[in-house]
Amino acid sequence: MNVLFVGAHPDDIETWAGGTAASYSQQGAKLFFCVATNGNVGSSTLGRDEIAKIRYKEAQNGAAVINAELIWLDFDDEFLIDSYETRLKFIEAFRIAKPDVVFCHWTQDYNPDHSISGMIVDECIHMAMVPNIKTQSKPCDKLPHVYFMDTPAGVNFEPQIYVDITSVFEKKVEMVGQHKSQNSWMKTMFGYDMESFLKVPAQFRGLQAGCRMAEAFRPSYRRGRTFIKHYLPQCLEISPNFHNAHK
Ligand SMILES: [Zn+2]
Repeated sequence: MNVLFVGAHPDDIETWAGGTAASYSQQGAKLFFCVATNGNVGSSTLGRDEIAKIRYKEAQNGAAVINAELIWLDFDDEFLIDSYETRLKFIEAFRIAKPDVVFCHWTQDYNPDHSISGMIVDECIHMAMVPNIKTQSKPCDKLPHVYFMDTPAGVNFEPQIYVDITSVFEKKVEMVGQHKSQNSWMKTMFGYDMESFLKVPAQFRGLQAGCRMAEAFRPSYRRGRTFIKHYLPQCLEISPNFHNAHK
């Protein structure tokens, strides 16, 4: 199975789906981490190019913890714009990964790069199959299932499905811990505390799902996508709505 995670910023995938990615890794899935922007505003002391280089290295290190392949789209941080060029770069990423499952941000997330990248994935994933849309790689031959990731502190996100990450939570912490520059900047700027930022939401989602720690998702329902089977590892709960959609 090929699994593609698309994050707006270099640490997003690890933060909202790192446990799920680690579970996939244990099952032998081929993993791709696609990062849309280069994080080049994520410092109050370093210049844009300097911090972007550091964040690229940190993204490589985060992905390497579970042997995921990094796809770096290199758009400017906080200025991801939905355009012809942007869509083509996303489509090329889909074609590199040839995914069975794709994870992306919720389309009403707190940050424009998050929302726009989630919307582009959800709107454009089928375009990866269209031969007359030309990119470097060959078109995909199947339409993957798409899941939206949770939001910061779960605000404005009603989960429909959960993954038990209790056994891989420390691996998730290790992955997020690779993003040293971002963690320290967030601490200085916003009082970010990695322990509470990761642990409290995991425990809260676990409480909802009936396990110690969980990550939460919503499937994207679109015609033609694969609804006949669940693709999540250690999937815990399916909402009534999800059952109804599969009838
Ligand atoms: Zn982000």
